[in-house]
Amino acid sequence: MFGVGLIKGLGVTLKHFIETYVDDIRWLGRGRYYNEESLKIRQGTQAKGVFTVQYPEEKLPVPEEFRYIPFLLYEIKEDGTHQDRCTSCGICAKVCPPQCIWIVRSNDPETGRPIPEPTDFFIDIDICMNCGLCAEYCPFDAIKMDHDYELAAYDRFEHHIFDKERLSKPVSYYASIRPRNYRIEEEARAEKEATKAAKRKEA
Ligand code: SF4
Ligand code: SF4
Repeated sequence: MFGVGLIKGLGVTLKHFIETYVDDIRWLGRGRYYNEESLKIRQGTQAKGVFTVQYPEEKLPVPEEFRYIPFLLYEIKEDGTHQDRCTSCGICAKVCPPQCIWIVRSNDPETGRPIPEPTDFFIDIDICMNCGLCAEYCPFDAIKMDHDYELAAYDRFEHHIFDKERLSKPVSYYASIRPRNYRIEEEARAEKEATKAAKRKEA
């Protein structure tokens, strides 16, 4: 009969509506919203009532391989100063499909010779298409894809052209958002160093 599907659909909506209140009572004192435990249940197969994510108070965790805007990594040296991993080689800018990376290279003020670190580094995040090629091709693990997707702003030119300061984050941040990747890279680095050391010994 014409309209049965519509009535069934409204019935499902009504069921969810009522179940939301029943579930609210069931969770009384524990908080059905805004905490990880309840979000997991509401996003699971046993969810009852409203199961939408109450964004921005609640957020779904993103998987490790999630990628948004790239960021630059720096090491923190023993004396507390920062050491950029980036050598301003320019490979990321070359491979970037929409060409949204600009690098300002450094030169030694006395000799004029290039210094392997950027004076500045810009990414136009409105043009970046989040492909991750810059991170894939960087030979120094100096640029990685970030998880931070809350970057909305009113003024594109003031807020969406990220400079080196805005792009730079410590290696520990990278390790926290991509622990598996970080571990694999560090193991590979340690292995390479060990091979080098062994070769030096032999020589
Ligand atoms: S981020 Fe990597 S690829 Fe890009 S300039 Fe720096 S070192 Fe080279
Ligand atoms: S993620 Fe892709 S588009 Fe964005 S800066 Fe890197 S290479 Fe360019």
